[in-house]
Amino acid sequence: SSAEAGLYTASDQIVLLSRENVESVLVNSTAAIVVEFYASWCGHCIAFSPVYKSLARDIKEWKPAVELAAIDCAAEANRKVCTGFSIRGYPTLKFFHAYSKAESTGESFKGFPRDVRGLRHKIIEQLETHGEPWPPACPPLESTSQAEINSFFETNNVQHLALIFEESKSFIGREVTLDLLQFENIAVRRVLSNEEDLVTKLGVTEFPSCYLYYPGGNFTQLKVANEARTFYTFALQRLPGVVRSGKPPLDNTHLVTNNTEEPWRPFNRSRVYMADLESTLHYSLRVELASQTQIKGEVLIALKKYISVLAKYFPGRPVVMNLLQSINSWLQNQTANEISYVAFKEKLDNSSQAPDTALPEGVRWVGCQGSKPHFRRYPCGVWTLFHVLTVQAKKAGGSDAKEVLSSMRGYIHHFFGCRPCAEHFENMAQESLAEVTTLSTAVLWLWSRHNRVNNRLAGDLSEDPNFPKIQWPSPEICPACHTVKDNGEHRWNHEQVLSFLLSHFSSNNILSDYLE
Ligand code: FAD
Repeated sequence: SSAEAGLYTASDQIVLLSRENVESVLVNSTAAIVVEFYASWCGHCIAFSPVYKSLARDIKEWKPAVELAAIDCAAEANRKVCTGFSIRGYPTLKFFHAYSKAESTGESFKGFPRDVRGLRHKIIEQLETHGEPWPPACPPLESTSQAEINSFFETNNVQHLALIFEESKSFIGREVTLDLLQFENIAVRRVLSNEEDLVTKLGVTEFPSCYLYYPGGNFTQLKVANEARTFYTFALQRLPGVVRSGKPPLDNTHLVTNNTEEPWRPFNRSRVYMADLESTLHYSLRVELASQTQIKGEVLIALKKYISVLAKYFPGRPVVMNLLQSINSWLQNQTANEISYVAFKEKLDNSSQAPDTALPEGVRWVGCQGSKPHFRRYPCGVWTLFHVLTVQAKKAGGSDAKEVLSSMRGYIHHFFGCRPCAEHFENMAQESLAEVTTLSTAVLWLWSRHNRVNNRLAGDLSEDPNFPKIQWPSPEICPACHTVKDNGEHRWNHEQVLSFLLSHFSSNNILSDYLE
């Protein structure tokens, strides 16, 4: 289809427009929509697409108020649509107001900036000129005053009011307001530095800075490592009582009582548990692989690579390592183009009868427990397993930088039961796995792709409210991983992230609690 040949995929959080859906998406939408009209052969469009994708990740939380979309005008089928919007050059960006009419051709972003920050600011300016009807999900963006604050709690039923003090040219207040729009029990307002009553009353001396203001006039400054957007957003989303709209309030009591069919196993979030890794192996080898009765060709090659990587790098107990090594040598000796899962299973179980060779049956989730039976567990175990393997491979210092990641790619592609997950992962691998040239960049690649998935899934139905999807590691568990550029944009300190990952997923950090 035209969507697949274009520059964007379903993983990009960009609405893919085509002749079929363009009207239903643009006409009468409750959100404002930015549309990129591009041609897949155009060099500037190709160069711009990573920026547009990263913009989509950056303003993901703004979606109910403003969405990003794209259409490939090079596709035959879309040509009429693009002419209809009078598109003459690529890429063209157009802004469509909420509740646009069918005849609307949008407003062009002339000479638009080619960086995420500039585009974000442009979108805010465009939103501010938005006439009535205002997109219903979009909170007020104008600055507030002492007078408004005085009556704020009479008209707004929220627990927290965050005030962001800033210079008039700063966008942080409006950005954070939009970042929080999907969260309840909190409102965010910007206060300009010349709003003397409030500035004097709170004793504000730094711009930007963020204060929490309570009914009755109490206030406290929000403590963050950097006075910058992402730090405010992260801290505000985690205030007590603040929850994502439509999600139950965070309830720590059911973490200690029995809310699943099994008793809750207390655990430390800064450790990795061997019980999770062994449970993942059990499920992978005995349940997931079993869905293929005959394993042949490419699939067999993927299985051989997976088992070989496990035998080499899994930091397991001797009994488990003996088993993995025995299966590995059996498997690598299979010269036929095909094996049956039954033969593999026999080997798995017979090896287990040998002394000192066993993989425990059944699953026992610890760090991967969910607050409900359908949350977390096996997929959490799969991520954890492969992070551990990339870190172990780095420590072993082998010569093939992509060894673990290509085995993961093969496993996910051929065996992982969650098919949309497999497709998204394959998209990411195709896009950038080639960039991995060292064992360290392999560790970082998996970390950053996992964060992309976290970004995409934040707020999704599959998110356990007790384990919100965040950009990991948080500033709480790794302060040194987070820095800001001169312009205030967040920047990961990759060196610090790498050393954090090497220690978090090292054998020393793996606990053997709850093993039988
Ligand atoms: P997980 O995301 O499973 O993470 C497990 C643990 O890893 C976390 O608790 C944390 O300690 C640590 N961690 C978190 N982020 C990072 C990071 N960036 N680097 C290193 N460690 C980290 N679900 C979908 O609904 N749609 C998908 O497209 C999808 N794609 C997936 C692709 C793959 C390859 C895998 C393995 C899973 C995918 N899933 C997908 C499942 C989803 O990513 C989660 O695994 C699942 O929702 C359980 O989430 P969780 O809260 O246990 O945390």
